[in-house]
Amino acid sequence: MNSRQLFRRSRLRLAAWYALVMGGILSLSGLCMARALVQANWVALEREIESIAGTLHDSLEPMLPPSKAPTDLLQQIFPDLCIVEQPCELNPSPIQRHTIGISDRTNYYIRLFDNQENLLAFSPNQPEPLPSNLNPTTWQTLQTKEGNRYHQFTTILHSAAYAHVPEEAAYEHPSWGYLQVGRTLAAFDAELQRLQWIFIGGFLLALGLTAIASWLLSGLAMQPIYQSYQRQQQFTANAAHELRSPLASLLATVEAILRLPPEQSEQVPALLKTVERQGHRLSQLVADLLLLASLEEDTTAKLAQPCSLNDIVADLTEELAELAAMTDINLSSQLPDLEIHVMGHESQLYRLVSNLIANAIQYTPSGGSVVVSLAPHDRFATITVKDTGIGIPAKEQSRIFERFCRVNGDRSRKSGGTGLGLAIARAIVHRHQGQITVKSEVDQGSVFTVRLGIATEKNKKQPWT
Ligand code: ADP
Repeated sequence: MNSRQLFRRSRLRLAAWYALVMGGILSLSGLCMARALVQANWVALEREIESIAGTLHDSLEPMLPPSKAPTDLLQQIFPDLCIVEQPCELNPSPIQRHTIGISDRTNYYIRLFDNQENLLAFSPNQPEPLPSNLNPTTWQTLQTKEGNRYHQFTTILHSAAYAHVPEEAAYEHPSWGYLQVGRTLAAFDAELQRLQWIFIGGFLLALGLTAIASWLLSGLAMQPIYQSYQRQQQFTANAAHELRSPLASLLATVEAILRLPPEQSEQVPALLKTVERQGHRLSQLVADLLLLASLEEDTTAKLAQPCSLNDIVADLTEELAELAAMTDINLSSQLPDLEIHVMGHESQLYRLVSNLIANAIQYTPSGGSVVVSLAPHDRFATITVKDTGIGIPAKEQSRIFERFCRVNGDRSRKSGGTGLGLAIARAIVHRHQGQITVKSEVDQGSVFTVRLGIATEKNKKQPWT
């Protein structure tokens, strides 16, 4: 499987997980919302039934007849109801209608029971078949054979007529009877079904959108990994290429030495010098690669120490003065009077500044100048290495800190450059939580600026890796 396929598969897997998790969360919250909505509707419905039953109870209380056979009076009070064992008059006159009843006769029904739990009267629209004996459970949900559902409330009906009955009798007959108010759940069920469809539709839509979003998000998440993988591959290829050339020329030189006829043996020392140079170059390259790896992997967990930048700049200006003089370059330094310390690794800071000065000397033609200056700015120290050299084209300036980047390939190679100097410099600066920038103009020169935090009395005491 090639890397593209591998990344595609990983992206797919990541997208599937994203979709699964997001879909799960979405459907769970959707379910909770739907549940809350249904519950709220149900509570409102029960409250409505209960309030109708209460109103009816209060209106009936003073009118209920005390007699044991109240059917005649009931007919007058409830012209809308059918009286048990009597023909049901379904069309009461408008005057009768106003006697007592509920305005919404299509949705609601009433049933009246005496205190022996015998059915006395009922609305003609009560669901069939409802038993004629009482089930005193307060709330019931019933379902007819056709599948229509009803919700029913049962309450005790008191009569004002019993208020004068002696206590014992009142104990025996605590109530006049029972009132049942029910309503059809057709509208509620229709709403429930509508909610269900909305939920299913919304869920499918959310799932589709989640899948698309997951695919895009996983692409975004994989991008830096893919780029880093590509950079790694490029680095391996570059490293192999850099190692191959000196190795090939080293092998060729050794072969030439071996084939040299004995009469030309005086050439051997010169050829061995070349082998030595190539060996040095290889070992320098490997050392640079290892240093870069250790800097980037953060494996050198050495304790940081206060390092004097004044000393580092002064030492390196002195050390490299000879190299500068060889190519007729004027190397000078400008140091502040006060001592500037930063917390870090001295050897790494030496390497950083020496790389910058060496580059400035290397890329400045004879007769030019290189100035290294150190200055404090608030809580930061800035080291600038300014040369009057060949400069770097604007479009290359962002690339020069990459590993094996060479603007002037031939010149860099000839002078022993590995193309890793600035990458190492940047890695050291980052390890010291600093910044490195470049300003350059072709044929005018370059200025490399390093900004590092000055060590304070407080952080001098803190361990830092
Ligand atoms: P090298 O070993 O090739 O010098 P570096 O990483 O140090 O590698 O530098 C990368 C490239 O940046 C060099 O090849 C060179 O083209 C360019 N460069 C670095 N410093 C300077 C400078 N002071 N002036 C001009 N070009 C520079």
